[in-house]
Amino acid sequence: MRAAIFRGAFAIQVEQIPDATILAPTDAVVRITHASICGTDLWPYRGQGTYQPGWQIGHEWMGMVEDIGSEVRTLKRGDRVIAPYDFCDGTCEFCRKGLDSACLQGGLWGFGHEGGQAEAIRARFADATLVALPSAVEGDEALLKALLPLTDNMAAGHHAAVSAGVRPGGTVAVIGDGAVGLCAMLAALRLGAERLIVLGHQAQRLTLARQFGATDVVTSRGEQGVRQVIELTEGGADAVLECVGTEEAINMAVNMTRPGGTVGFVGVPQGSGQIPLERMFSSNIGLRGGLAPARAYLPELLADVLAGKLDPSPVLDMTVSLAEVAAGYAAMDQRQAIKVLVQP
Ligand SMILES: [Zn+2]
Repeated sequence: MRAAIFRGAFAIQVEQIPDATILAPTDAVVRITHASICGTDLWPYRGQGTYQPGWQIGHEWMGMVEDIGSEVRTLKRGDRVIAPYDFCDGTCEFCRKGLDSACLQGGLWGFGHEGGQAEAIRARFADATLVALPSAVEGDEALLKALLPLTDNMAAGHHAAVSAGVRPGGTVAVIGDGAVGLCAMLAALRLGAERLIVLGHQAQRLTLARQFGATDVVTSRGEQGVRQVIELTEGGADAVLECVGTEEAINMAVNMTRPGGTVGFVGVPQGSGQIPLERMFSSNIGLRGGLAPARAYLPELLADVLAGKLDPSPVLDMTVSLAEVAAGYAAMDQRQAIKVLVQP
């Protein structure tokens, strides 16, 4: 089968690798129909981090079950499934707490494991990890596209909103206009946010943010951006969703939170790790978040997409075939696309 392989900075290649097969009785083999490129995939692409040449890449995918191991009970051949970006055993302490991203036997697709930008995948812990989709989705390409961000970005956005304690009527600021930030806006509105301020820099993405329901747009960086949010909200946002991960973003987030409020952070931390602890102390500002438990969130987000109440599909603004996947990476790297759908 063909799969996207990381060969080094700016080198994602489609190569022939051994076919996906059942290796453990809890595995399924899934023929991938939809995959996508994540902002996280751009780090190895840009030569950052510890991604090893030869590893498969891609952690966002959906497909059709082609084969199941002898212990798989909830899935059968021909089922259409969606996977969270993280596989999980469903039985450990953390899975039972709804924190599958901390599963003791878990991991991320790609990152040395089977990858999702491929024709097929060996799906570990199939019963615990995969969620079967109703047959009503068949042939509804728009609906399938709306489901795909639930694999990662929409789960992350929801996690930011939940972690920050977004409540009906609340004022929410979202830092970041990438796919996760845009999904965080949808998540905040879904939880009842009344005023939604977005901080970003890309005109096209901010237009989409307005379409999604952002009430205010702030394009200033650093202290000026913080000042603007404090002015707009007369003292700070109740909940701030940090969807970037840079030191500047986390500092801005803490500094624009209303006393007693909470920052939900889902941007993967970069930089020194310094946070404004004194401001957190003096103004009782909480900081929660981290790797989203995407599997735990899947059922409720799935129900809303199927009911037509949630549609993150506009973040997928470019489509490529698997053979063209390198062009998809280049487009995201050069910010010509927010997020790329890959159709094997
Ligand atoms: Zn577990």
